[in-house]
Amino acid sequence: MTTLILGGGVSGLVTAWHLQRGGETVELWEAQDSVGGWVHTLPWPDVEGRSGHIERGPQGVLSAPGSAVDRLFKELDLEVRSPGHGARWVGMGGTLIPVPTAPAALLFSRLLTFSAKFRMMMEPFIPIRSPEPEENLSAFVARRLGRGVAENLLPAMVAGILAAPAESLSVDALPKLLSWEAKGSLFQGMRSGGSSALVVPKGGMGAFPKRLSERLSGVQTGLRAEGLEQLESGRWRVWGGGELREVDRVLLALPAYEASVLLGPIAPQSAEALAAIPYTSVRLRHSRHTRLAPLDDSFGFLVHPPEGHGFLGALVPSWIDPDSAPADLMQLRVFLGGAFEMDSSLSESAGVQQVLRSWVPALGEPLQVREELADRAIPRPEMGHRGHVQAALAGLPKGIDWISNARFGPGVRDVVEGVEAWMNHQDTK
Ligand SMILES: Cc1cc2nc3c(=O)[nH]c(=O)nc-3n(C[C@H](O)[C@H](O)[C@H](O)COP(=O)(O)OP(=O)(O)OC[C@H]3O[C@@H](n4cnc5c(N)ncnc54)[C@H](O)[C@@H]3O)c2cc1C
Repeated sequence: MTTLILGGGVSGLVTAWHLQRGGETVELWEAQDSVGGWVHTLPWPDVEGRSGHIERGPQGVLSAPGSAVDRLFKELDLEVRSPGHGARWVGMGGTLIPVPTAPAALLFSRLLTFSAKFRMMMEPFIPIRSPEPEENLSAFVARRLGRGVAENLLPAMVAGILAAPAESLSVDALPKLLSWEAKGSLFQGMRSGGSSALVVPKGGMGAFPKRLSERLSGVQTGLRAEGLEQLESGRWRVWGGGELREVDRVLLALPAYEASVLLGPIAPQSAEALAAIPYTSVRLRHSRHTRLAPLDDSFGFLVHPPEGHGFLGALVPSWIDPDSAPADLMQLRVFLGGAFEMDSSLSESAGVQQVLRSWVPALGEPLQVREELADRAIPRPEMGHRGHVQAALAGLPKGIDWISNARFGPGVRDVVEGVEAWMNHQDTK
């Protein structure tokens, strides 16, 4: 069987990796000049020319010993480091409140009232609900963990992952929640997956797709697929950038809106369903400052969305990945906008600095600032997402499949696990 994969983000690369290891002939086309999609590390030297970098997308990936990510990184001989479980805060009531790293320690946190903590501890005794019909994310968390968690903790966490309001999303936005509930309770499910830690490959997240592409044959960059059609034999013809291929199978490892364009002429039902999946854009502001304790030794903070007015939070990349900045500097990465209405003051860098100072009054002026726009970067699984995915997959002709974080879940870990499960399903077909 010959397979052409369109899209060289982690979805496409990890799929190519599994298929090639299974002995298949695989080619991959990536539209950009380098592989990785959102997983891309960009150099950012400091003002004296000392090396450092920023991430276009993920700052790290969650991995537990023996998990799909852990096994893949080992197979790739990828050297990774973990910053450990650092301090983190939620900005609420005008102040930064520490978030305990272990769920049990939430019992002593100021983030929840006594009755909310008590209700949260009842979670293992809440009966499992059938995953059908699709449930709203906030409603799911309120049902399992209580309204206190759903209203005071969830919104900031979800804004930090999906840059969207939790109440607008389907529980399918975080598919891990459903798989944990299926194990009896969220606490039980979390425990069964082992303890996950954030890890970063040496050299930044971009080292991961780079290593994958080095280990693969048939990866072509700078080659955008422009169209495909089925031949009488049932095989597929794909063209783009002056190239043409005839293959048995085409895998669209693309965002839903890109896959929709290619599918329009051959699978209109799938194209329509994929076009209905919204994506969120987010502004990222990177800055470097003189180190400031305790922020410099932490993961950073997320802001309770009703108080953030579009300021979603600030991570500390220099703690997560010490190579991102010279050792005497602290690097911050602020997330702005997303699906939230943004205060007009945040459109100026000075306005962002002012908001940062309102949460961290001792923070010094930035020594360097760099802004990036992550345009249509994050799938937004609103209510009805499950129907869109099911309709998209049901309408695909034989020999075509769609592989994406909009199908498997928002993070790199979801994609790696989703592709592995997809491979196992192929084997049993
Ligand atoms: C700002 C931001 C922060 C994030 N933070 C985290 C995090 O901390 N942890 C985490 O786990 N995840 C995080 N993520 C999510 C993670 O980056 C994604 O889940 C993952 O990168 C999605 O990979 P993908 O291959 O599905 O899609 P993409 O990365 O979008 O890859 C799709 C690829 O297809 C290519 N393409 C498009 N059209 C064509 C065409 N016609 N022909 C050929 N190629 C084409 C594109 O150029 C692109 O390279 C973050 C994402 C963003 C944007």
